[in-house]
Amino acid sequence: MALHLRGTVLPSGIPRDLWILGDRITFDRPSAEADTVADGGYLLPGLVDVHTHPGSPSEDEPAFDPDVFVEQIAAHRDAGTTALRFPGLLGEIPDGLRDAADAPRMITAGRWLAWAGLSKSADFHTVTDDLVTAAVAEAKAHDGWCKLMGDWDFEAAPVPYDILRAVTDAVHAAGGRVAAHCQSAQGVLNAARAGVDSIEHGMGMPEECVELMAAHGAVYVPTLTAFARSAPRIKDNPRGRLWHAGHRIMIQRVREAHDAGVTVLAGTDSTPFGNVATEVEHLIAAGLPADVAVGAASWAAREFLGLPGLVEGGLADVTVYDVDPRREPGVLRHPRRIVLRGRVVR
Ligand SMILES: [Zn+2]
Repeated sequence: MALHLRGTVLPSGIPRDLWILGDRITFDRPSAEADTVADGGYLLPGLVDVHTHPGSPSEDEPAFDPDVFVEQIAAHRDAGTTALRFPGLLGEIPDGLRDAADAPRMITAGRWLAWAGLSKSADFHTVTDDLVTAAVAEAKAHDGWCKLMGDWDFEAAPVPYDILRAVTDAVHAAGGRVAAHCQSAQGVLNAARAGVDSIEHGMGMPEECVELMAAHGAVYVPTLTAFARSAPRIKDNPRGRLWHAGHRIMIQRVREAHDAGVTVLAGTDSTPFGNVATEVEHLIAAGLPADVAVGAASWAAREFLGLPGLVEGGLADVTVYDVDPRREPGVLRHPRRIVLRGRVVR
């Protein structure tokens, strides 16, 4: 049976009736009988977390457990998150889950790739001295994305620009996209100059990166939630003061990036899963207009990932809220209705 929903469709803000047939949305009343599953409220194409790493039993223990992955994906789904991007995953998406009827849509960049010449790296990184070959292979093996460590420590030397540029050009030539972890001023600058497709974190970002990202069409994923959680634990010593300075700068760049025409998107990076509503609040606190911040965790993120939203023929993911999340972003924690892949989840 078809599903029918009526409400104010975002981002247009137009009250409409929409129907779901299979995994598609239509605004044309179908001849088949339809079950009305929402009448009133605000309709979004679901939430999106573009920076999440499910699958590890604990953050201190970077191992991959498929059962934990399934649990954490379910937490995302039950929060109304209908699409996810994994910019670094320690294992493969368990068999059958990618197309499961109740699984959010998933895009993975495969492993975290760290260049062997990088000053520091972590145990969970895949270290390679041929970053070009490895990055192209990851992008081809997964969903067109690879994940590079542009740096790993905000005080240590990052991957040089020439290498990042060669990798980015090769991945683009192969039809892929590059997500770059950067948390040092020079690391962000190298990645922004190299033309990567997404800058993740961007701690200490030099001012000129905003224009570079705009020129290259790169998106900015600051993952403010993760940094806000770490901040109280960072000590007030010289290294800690540098960390806090880099943190303040990244918050400032969120609004500047938006003003320069850069798309800012919402990612949580850390636990808990299903928490992208918190990132929306951080983005608003950083100065993003509320409608842009909600879009960063919904329609704008879907567009970036190539997933159509609430348009004729769009994919059948809908979440419904009692009040306008652009006015009360906190309501994003309380979806009244979740439809995923054309089926009612809640
Ligand atoms: Zn991350």
